Amino acid sequence: SMPMLYIITPTYKRQEQIPDLTRLAQTLMHVPSIMWLVIEDAEMLNPQVAALLRRTGIKYLHMLAPMPKDQKMRKVKARGVSNRNKGLQWIRENFVDQNGVIYFADDDNTYDLRLFDEIRSVKRVGMWPVGLLTSYGMSSPVVKNGRVTGFYDGWVANRKFPVDMAGFGVSVSMIIKNPKGNMPYVPGYEEDGFLRNLNVKITEIEPKAENCTKIYVWHTQTKKNKAPAKVNATIHGQDNIWTLY
Ligand code: UDP
Ligand code: MN
Repeated sequence: SMPMLYIITPTYKRQEQIPDLTRLAQTLMHVPSIMWLVIEDAEMLNPQVAALLRRTGIKYLHMLAPMPKDQKMRKVKARGVSNRNKGLQWIRENFVDQNGVIYFADDDNTYDLRLFDEIRSVKRVGMWPVGLLTSYGMSSPVVKNGRVTGFYDGWVANRKFPVDMAGFGVSVSMIIKNPKGNMPYVPGYEEDGFLRNLNVKITEIEPKAENCTKIYVWHTQTKKNKAPAKVNATIHGQDNIWTLY
């Protein structure tokens, strides 16, 4: 049977949360054999997220992993790290498909359905291009003779693995074999730190998406909207009351 995909999605409350999660959910509704770990950086589960998840019919887990206080106070934060580490902890503590693959799917990116076939074929570590990153327009492994030999990325910054969160998938067995393979709270170095902590070797990277020639995922960012000036402004006599949150 198909290896299970464990899709780990960090999310947090904001005006754009439900629209972003609706788009991602309705993509994932087309993908077979997945378990969606939706992990909120919050103190309480958002009931609107819970209702959305229930409506999808996807097999999911809805969990909390608030950002630690010391991180929250920082000007530049490591976003989504507590959430992703919680997902990894769950994978390690539960009976999961040993042939499965994990993927970190941020709530605001855009995913082509063909990406999920690529992720499912990962044996250890797979990598592929991510569109819409930096002035380079994308980030991608460099492939020569079918092997990854380097990286094309607009912000290398001394990273061994200059890749985006959306640009790789890792096997469940790698996660289990490396119990200390977590994500560090270092803004900009989350991916690199995680892949180093997992003891990934450049030579073992599997280039996906037709030898990294196709873009199946984009680092889209939903524009932050102004907070509404008035909530539940009503016109005399109307019978519909709007709910914004
Ligand atoms: N996120 C979070 N808490 C925060 C900010 C972001 O859990 O305080 C989540 C967010 O929902 C997303 C991921 O972390 O899934 C990455 O955040 P964002 O998309 O804002 O980062 P960027 O794309 O700008 O790097
Ligand atoms: Mn994002």
